[in-house]
Amino acid sequence: MNTRRDFLRKMGASALMLQLGSITSFSSAANQIGKPYEGRVLRVAIMGLGGYGTRVAEAMKACTKAKLVGVISGTPSKIKAWQARYNIPEKNCYNYDNFDLVKNNPDIDAIYVITPNALHHNQVIRVAKAGKHAICEKPMALNAREGQEMIDACKNANVKLLVGYRMHFEPRTLEVLRMRNVGDFGKVMFFQAQCGFKAGDPSQWRLNKALAGGGSMMDIGIYAINGARYMVGEEPVWVTAQETKTDPLKFKDGVDETIQFQLGFPSGAIASCLSSYNISHLDRFYLSGEKGFAEMQPSTGYGPIRGRTHKGELNQPITTHQTVQMDEMATIIFDDHRPAIPVNGEEGLKDLKIIDAIYQAAETGLKVKVKG
Ligand code: NAD
Repeated sequence: MNTRRDFLRKMGASALMLQLGSITSFSSAANQIGKPYEGRVLRVAIMGLGGYGTRVAEAMKACTKAKLVGVISGTPSKIKAWQARYNIPEKNCYNYDNFDLVKNNPDIDAIYVITPNALHHNQVIRVAKAGKHAICEKPMALNAREGQEMIDACKNANVKLLVGYRMHFEPRTLEVLRMRNVGDFGKVMFFQAQCGFKAGDPSQWRLNKALAGGGSMMDIGIYAINGARYMVGEEPVWVTAQETKTDPLKFKDGVDETIQFQLGFPSGAIASCLSSYNISHLDRFYLSGEKGFAEMQPSTGYGPIRGRTHKGELNQPITTHQTVQMDEMATIIFDDHRPAIPVNGEEGLKDLKIIDAIYQAAETGLKVKVKG
């Protein structure tokens, strides 16, 4: 019955790669070794069929624990195309006006919100009220107040809220964390992150404050914030920040072009970070401890992630981030699996509190305490 071909198909290529790797202690994939997945499959509808939604849908083809079964979109022609491409039944298709009806649909477990940032808050709350688990893209919301409201709504509805932090499942990243945890770097003293690219089309929603909630910080700077937290392994207590704007026509009021920011951690470790929509080739992490270092470049792109430490090259398996993320999220939702780095709403809220503090620090020039 269980032929090798069946086994390979069910496991999916990326899950297999994970099995062959050395991060089994970090991944629930370890549970699968030697047998196909027979647990509950997470049935997901994607809301927002744009660039990243498409990437997630493609990656989910290789999932073994999660499956794309529905769509929510305001564009009927896109719905038709996705139905054909992913074999999605009519009864699992919704638009932004009627998706609350998903509460009557027993064939969808979770909705993955992949729309412009400003829409996440309201859409996740509606998902929660419909009784479905919510997976939300980063940034989870525009500010900490909104984030807290989303967490409360999901708690009240007894559904889970997860944030699409795909790097939290990336094997080379997890290896650096493992090394830090066993003391290979000694006391961590310093972290540096450079995250940025040149934003193209000036009319895109990412450069519209009402839809993006800000500029580079909301989109790419959040990788530096989140990375600082998981690489140092502490929560920052203060921030300072400086904004630079060279093109005020393209980057209007409230849309940050470039922000440099610094974070201070309780141990005394510090971080120095750069977030930019106008500087290319910025995708680098550097962690320095008393006994060693880790350097990753690219550090948060879609991969492959590359890096080395004072002990040599990082050579853990290369994965499709979104495939592993969605398989892991299935086990987080159904089995209360706890990933090495959390991806829950509280994790998203921590980043939002830091973003709030960074914007305040950039505006005032003051050192700002991060709200606990
Ligand atoms: P996109 O512009 O490619 O897609 C956005 C989608 O939302 C489109 O299909 C658009 O039609 C739809 N939409 C619904 N209401 C809209 C409105 N009022 N205005 C504009 N579009 C509307 O954007 P994207 O790159 O897919 O980003 C979507 C979200 O995913 C963002 O929150 C972004 O930060 C996040 N994202 C995450 C990653 C990651 O690696 N985790 C990568 C890219 C984007």
